[in-house]
Amino acid sequence: MTQSTQTLPTHDEIRELTRSGLAGCGLDLDAIAAGTSATGVHLRSPITGQELGWATADTAETAQDKIGRAQAAFQEWRAVPAPVRGRVVQRWGQLLEEHKTDLAALVTVEAGKTPSEAAGEVQEMIDICELAVGQSRQLFGKTLPSERPDHRLMETWHPLGVVGIISAFNFPVAPYAWNTALAIVCGDPVVWKPSELALLSALGADALLTRAFEECGQSTDVNHVLVGGREVGEVLLDDPRVDLVSATGSVRMGREVGPRVAARFGRTLLELGGNNAAIVAPSADEDLALRGVVFAAAGTAGQRCTTLRRLFVHSSIADGFVERVVAAYRTLTIGDPSGDGVLVGPLIGRGAYDAMQSALEAAVAQGGEVLCGGGRVLEAEAPDAYYVEPAVVRMPGQTEIVHEETFAPILYVVDYDDFDEAIRLNNAVPQGLSSAVFTSDLNEAERFLAGSDTGIANVNIGTSGAEIGGAFGGNKETGGGRESGTDSWQAYMRQATNTVNFSGELPLAQGVEFL
Ligand code: NAD
Repeated sequence: MTQSTQTLPTHDEIRELTRSGLAGCGLDLDAIAAGTSATGVHLRSPITGQELGWATADTAETAQDKIGRAQAAFQEWRAVPAPVRGRVVQRWGQLLEEHKTDLAALVTVEAGKTPSEAAGEVQEMIDICELAVGQSRQLFGKTLPSERPDHRLMETWHPLGVVGIISAFNFPVAPYAWNTALAIVCGDPVVWKPSELALLSALGADALLTRAFEECGQSTDVNHVLVGGREVGEVLLDDPRVDLVSATGSVRMGREVGPRVAARFGRTLLELGGNNAAIVAPSADEDLALRGVVFAAAGTAGQRCTTLRRLFVHSSIADGFVERVVAAYRTLTIGDPSGDGVLVGPLIGRGAYDAMQSALEAAVAQGGEVLCGGGRVLEAEAPDAYYVEPAVVRMPGQTEIVHEETFAPILYVVDYDDFDEAIRLNNAVPQGLSSAVFTSDLNEAERFLAGSDTGIANVNIGTSGAEIGGAFGGNKETGGGRESGTDSWQAYMRQATNTVNFSGELPLAQGVEFL
């Protein structure tokens, strides 16, 4: 049995935490929650499962109006020098630092993350602000040798236009900040449709950005939030004034977003679901691997896009290692994410719980053995909240269910004998976000890095917990988009190749003669 804490906060305590988090960001819960169930977005915390009110949703008309205002603001914003644009992001980063606890409290309330993980998410926002400020002085192009005499050939980068951002509930503010900090220094306004399940964190983050624009004396029409569910997000997909749609969420969502934006030749940046794997080789430091595996698989209640879902353990060490994983799982404390020593908070809701149960049933039907977890806890204390014991399931192979991302804490374990076979299994799923190997064998480490087809591949580190300095994103059904880090800024800019002729003649390229 895993441990669970029996004391959950009361609804009033959650309300108070929400109220004070919002107040820190300059917002008032009562004013936000003044909508009705007929026209609103349900505000709810997965910690108690109870309702915090309803926020009034945007309609297609109000959403289009915000896109229009963003597009109008583009004309001015693009003319502001990039390093001056960077000052707004710098101020935003400072405000995020000042109000880290407030915003993190909202992330805890809405996504059910522990305060440490929620603060880590806000820290990622601060980190990307730092990166973007530096980037604001480095939006550089290349100058190339021209084949024609007295000609200059160069590639230049220009602001793109309105960036539409769609985000998922489980990282309600960090991926938004990756997009926004870079888009802003690149000269682009942003219109953000946050997850309807984590609206308050979004409003808090956006309010701090608006304050940064005000304090820097710049237009507050550069950033907008759209309140609502997928139907409001769909406005961004269809509106030709939105130049780039950057969407984070499930593969299902990406399948809808990608073709629809492509149909109007808009750009997309897709950050979709993962089905991440780790290999534990016989030479691995097992203590280190154990910690890496348990954090990546059970942390955030399995609700990270980079959560470890598949574990391939060499058959020579599999029984002993898996036993240690199960023993570590039994020490995990589940409950109020703010509770002392709690490492596993709630699932986002009933849908996630049902999906977990169906996946476990399928795994058993496909020959799996549930070694621990899977059951619901704290049901009597909070019937509308969904706390589960993270599960470890030993599978006879990588069966059909293991190919799916179930957004809940299920770790499928499969034995392997041959390292190349483990890499093949790692790659044999439709998604391609993150992977890891635990090994002390240099050859294995390098073979893994060359062979794994995921966008993130680690050695002796788990699959989750990326730093913003490196490009983040995945391949195959994960969507191919890259955010934060290195060259990602280019996704938010329009590239042009320019040729300047200062020869007084008109030689044509490739030696073509004409007239
Ligand atoms: P989801 O796909 O249900 O929703 C994500 C967002 O898309 C929400 O804002 C939703 O309103 C919007 N949306 C859904 N359908 C839409 C449509 N047809 N048009 C426009 N907008 C639409 O995802 P979720 O349950 O909120 O988040 C969990 C999923 O997100 C998991 O699959 C997880 O792996 C993935 N995720 C990926 C990354 C990444 O960087 N690769 C990061 C976080 C989460």
